[in-house]
Amino acid sequence: MADYIFNVARLLAQTSGSRRTVDVSARPDVLDVPEVIGTVRGVAQLTRLSDAILVTGRMRTVVRVPCARCMDDLDLQLAFDLDDQFVPCIDPVRGGPVDPDDRWLLDRGHNLDLSPVLAEAAISELPPRVVCPGQCRSPLLDQPVTARALDPRLAPLERLRRQMLHQDGDSHG
Ligand SMILES: [Zn+2]
Repeated sequence: MADYIFNVARLLAQTSGSRRTVDVSARPDVLDVPEVIGTVRGVAQLTRLSDAILVTGRMRTVVRVPCARCMDDLDLQLAFDLDDQFVPCIDPVRGGPVDPDDRWLLDRGHNLDLSPVLAEAAISELPPRVVCPGQCRSPLLDQPVTARALDPRLAPLERLRRQMLHQDGDSHG
């Protein structure tokens, strides 16, 4: 079994407060988060609650994000905490399907799949704005004026300028 899917059938059969520690290791392709380029690793505690399994722990990985100034790729260490609950997909008392609320579902074999939890936690911890540690420059500022006019944000201004320059040269009527 992969190092991010854990069978908790035995833990579910134990009393509240029972705990199990697991080593987590998930390759970036199982997360499907483009920024995550490193294996996610950490130690997680699986704790039996009265009606759920609580997952806590600290994970680390490497993410690749663009510099907000020069757009070069930056590789950063990212750490994030897990604090999520999983519930059985079939209610053990009433027998019907469970309403998970904002909790995650175990599969029918009581397997706890951490990959969507790791993906969501990593996304929520991505830094909103990072810049190179050195002195980098915006590529827009380094370009000559003619190239800068090609910036799509400046295109309406450039069109207006051309219209004003050529407004009496347009004599098709
Ligand atoms: Zn930069």
